[in-house]
Amino acid sequence: MKKAAVIGGGASGLMAALSASELYRTVVFEKNERTGRKLAQTGNGRCNLTNEAAGPGHYYGNDFVEGALMRFGPEDTLRYMEGIGLLARREYGGRYYSFSGQAGSVVDALRFALEKKGVELRTGTRVTGVEKKEDRFTVRSEKGEERFDYVIICCGSMAAEKLGGCSDGLDILRSLGHRVIKPVPALVPVMTDNTYTKMLRGVRVQGKATLMGEDGTPVRAALGDILFTDYGISGPAVMDVSRFCTGHKGLRIETDMFPDMDEADLEELLKKMTGLRETAGELFTGLLNNKLSVILAKYCGIEPGRKAAELSSKDALKLAHAAKNMSFDVKGTTGFPNAQTVRGGALTGQFDQNTLESLIVKGLFAAGEVLDVDGECGGFNLQWAWSSGYVAGRCGR
Ligand SMILES: Cc1cc2nc3c(=O)[nH]c(=O)nc-3n(C[C@H](O)[C@H](O)[C@H](O)COP(=O)(O)OP(=O)(O)OC[C@H]3O[C@@H](n4cnc5c(N)ncnc54)[C@H](O)[C@@H]3O)c2cc1C
Repeated sequence: MKKAAVIGGGASGLMAALSASELYRTVVFEKNERTGRKLAQTGNGRCNLTNEAAGPGHYYGNDFVEGALMRFGPEDTLRYMEGIGLLARREYGGRYYSFSGQAGSVVDALRFALEKKGVELRTGTRVTGVEKKEDRFTVRSEKGEERFDYVIICCGSMAAEKLGGCSDGLDILRSLGHRVIKPVPALVPVMTDNTYTKMLRGVRVQGKATLMGEDGTPVRAALGDILFTDYGISGPAVMDVSRFCTGHKGLRIETDMFPDMDEADLEELLKKMTGLRETAGELFTGLLNNKLSVILAKYCGIEPGRKAAELSSKDALKLAHAAKNMSFDVKGTTGFPNAQTVRGGALTGQFDQNTLESLIVKGLFAAGEVLDVDGECGGFNLQWAWSSGYVAGRCGR
């Protein structure tokens, strides 16, 4: 029986091993003491395991993702997961979360399925090199060497080092002749001028974040929660635009706290509020978080203690404009340790998009974040891990 080595026991690696084990003796090498450590922390501990909308439009770069997503998409994933006793629940925006509400149980279900299929899980074993000689691969780890017919690189990216993030996969692929696009953090909190954000620490608003380029034109916008922090802004809407925040100067993030209302309507509403509230700092009370109500007045240079009844039409216009365009100068991101994924990775052009086999080394495959693929917030990155893992695990069949 032919043998397949899966390097990395995260989301893509566990799926690749399940898929490979249908035909081959399969061994998973995982450097952590446990498999799926990152997976167990996903979706705020609930695991947002897929999104029904997963298609090329939700991923960056190119249409490379199409091959794997067509072969094993969200519906296939949900069906497959159900088959191993793992149910999911649909929530807003087509996101599917683990039915148990426990990301750890996703890891357990995958582990049970792997054990049933006889896959050998070698945890606490870091692979240090892969070589190809005479049609077979030598996989070297800290514990020795072993020969395999197929190797699937599923080592993930440098995001979240504490959970296993590292550059090993890229180093191995480089050593085998692959090119790498320099990774930078993506889906990551953004550091900004914090004059106002630190006063709003912990406040969340559902809105729209728009990243504005150096020339003042929008680069990318996203809807969702915006969270204010000591160092800047975070939350899904901000994380979604963060992949463009590295390596550019003069960027700003504009936040719109009333994305469903135009500025003129908000201005009219605020004029009405001047008759319903005592002070300028209370004008947004009942509409936004109370702290934001005070800070928006300050942001506009209006003393929050000023009588609401004394505010002019111009003041209402200023406040409406601020609530729809409060803007923060970008200083950078909080980096790989806090990133959920990366932009960059192994050049996808050197892999067959239908099989994920290397076009340089026959019998070598790659899946998950080690490839230059990143998706939006909302289950898209895990779906890529499942799709690419499943396809790569077929070892070209
Ligand atoms: C906090 C957090 C929350 C997230 N939430 C979500 C979410 O809800 N939904 C979503 O879609 N995405 C989410 N993501 C992103 C998602 O987790 C990743 O896209 C996905 O895990 C990538 O899968 P992967 O298999 O490529 O990498 P990983 O899951 O990181 O697995 C790679 C594995 O390889 C191992 N490894 C690396 N090098 C070696 C080596 N040399 N030898 C042996 N083993 C090695 C690592 O230890 C690791 O276990 C989240 C990420 C983070 C950090």
